[in-house]
Amino acid sequence: MDSKDLANLIFPNVKGVEYYENKYPQRNLKEGAQVVRYAPSPTGFVHIGGLYQSLIAKKIAKQTDGVFFVRIEDTDQKREVENGVEGILKALDDYDVSPDETIGKGEYGPYLQSERKDIYESYAKKLLEEGKAYPCFCSTEELDKIRADQESAKERTGYYGKWAKYRNMPIDMAIEKIKNGDPYIIRLKSPGNPDKKIKHKDVIKGNIDMPENDQDIVIIKSDGLPTYHFAHVIDDHLMGTTLVTRGDEWVASVPLHLQLFYVLGFKAPKYAHTAALMKQEDGGKRKLSKRKDPEAAVSYYKEEGIPKDSVNEYLMNIANSNFEIWRKQNPDKSLYDFPFDMKKMGVSGALFDMVKMLDVSKNVISRYSADEVYNLAYSWAKEYDKELLEMLEDKEYSLKVLGIERGNQKPRKDIAKWSDLKYIISYMYDDKFEASSEEYDYQKINDKEEIEKIVKLYFEKYYDENDDKETWFNKIKDLAEELGYAREVKEYKANPDKYKGHVGDISTVLRVKLTRRSQTPDLFEIMKIIGKERLLKRA
Ligand code: GLU
Repeated sequence: MDSKDLANLIFPNVKGVEYYENKYPQRNLKEGAQVVRYAPSPTGFVHIGGLYQSLIAKKIAKQTDGVFFVRIEDTDQKREVENGVEGILKALDDYDVSPDETIGKGEYGPYLQSERKDIYESYAKKLLEEGKAYPCFCSTEELDKIRADQESAKERTGYYGKWAKYRNMPIDMAIEKIKNGDPYIIRLKSPGNPDKKIKHKDVIKGNIDMPENDQDIVIIKSDGLPTYHFAHVIDDHLMGTTLVTRGDEWVASVPLHLQLFYVLGFKAPKYAHTAALMKQEDGGKRKLSKRKDPEAAVSYYKEEGIPKDSVNEYLMNIANSNFEIWRKQNPDKSLYDFPFDMKKMGVSGALFDMVKMLDVSKNVISRYSADEVYNLAYSWAKEYDKELLEMLEDKEYSLKVLGIERGNQKPRKDIAKWSDLKYIISYMYDDKFEASSEEYDYQKINDKEEIEKIVKLYFEKYYDENDDKETWFNKIKDLAEELGYAREVKEYKANPDKYKGHVGDISTVLRVKLTRRSQTPDLFEIMKIIGKERLLKRA
């Protein structure tokens, strides 16, 4: 009896690996093209870090004329959640990071690990035949005992070397136990020596030397499914992955993964381990947490009405900090035109800051046309805000409101998310204006009579709805002068005792009176849109 008999006993009816090697031929891609993947487990929660990973992967694939695919790693069925897979794919579509290949599209599938059981078995059989894997019959009690013995002997814990109880069991005995119905799993017979180091050059982190792996890790579990470690190596090989981009919590597994590639006779891909997204807290940094931070969930951005472009732009900013400058120089280009460079990614903890995200979002929204703002805000409101939806029902008027200070050299930058929009534009809607607080701040001029006087005189003598902007402003200056205020701020500054104030104070009075806000975008545009009749009611 030899290892072939053992392999045949365990996997009597599986295809040889040649079948799969032929079925999934090498990809025909041009030199330098990278095949990059995102390989999440469907746990029901789409973390912003997952979107970050996908964006980077897709960017590299596009940039090199390669392929970006998504493989769902669902071999740990305890962790699985209903609709987890749909949730992930939907989120990627929502954020324009749809893969070229995934469940339902692509020649290198199935892209769901639980549907690839026969493939893993084929390779497990090969390893058994070659004596590079073996059945392990350890019960939980036996494993506990090994651990206890290791602890009392002050030795490294784990299933390795001399502690690996079934590593050297004679094949005849193993065959007998299996025939006898004894439960077992399959382990790798690790060829590693921890006194030796593997040299690994990570695309982001550079040279990393780590001890070789000597753990006889489980490759096929008692439920017949492979472990993640085993499955992903086979998948990355057959799917032609050339570059693995993933979170740096996986760095420690590199020795094991490289060893698996070696044992299976595969060429290993390159690795790029990205630093985790961190949040500043109490002067320190910690990982963005699914439990503690609502912004860790991709769904949060949708609910808040932060556009996908804003999220993507900010993530790109975190990935390559020179993106911000590039964006300033190339306001109209697509994010995918940015020359992304993995080598420029930070080696440790990437700071994720909501204030900065909203800042980026203000810039993104400032570049939208009124139509784009309208359409995005409208579909957000449909789902999340009935009141805003009602405001937007009058499309023609709303487009004018949203068009204020838009499309020019210095567009307005006060909108960061659709959930703020209702408040930001409310004074443009009479019912909301009426309902707003009476206790608004007139700032410098707060004498009631003076305010009345300014407004009255303005509408009686100066206001003309047909004025152009320059005339309109000159008239406010005339008004200022008539009432003893300086026409120019600098005149006032040079001679403060001569005047009651300056033209800015006068326009503030008009602004506050007509909008009940001390800060708004361009007052001229606002007044034009509100129109004479409604302005007079407010005056
Ligand atoms: N399925 C692993 C995870 O859930 C992916 C690790 C990898 O990309 O190799 O994070």
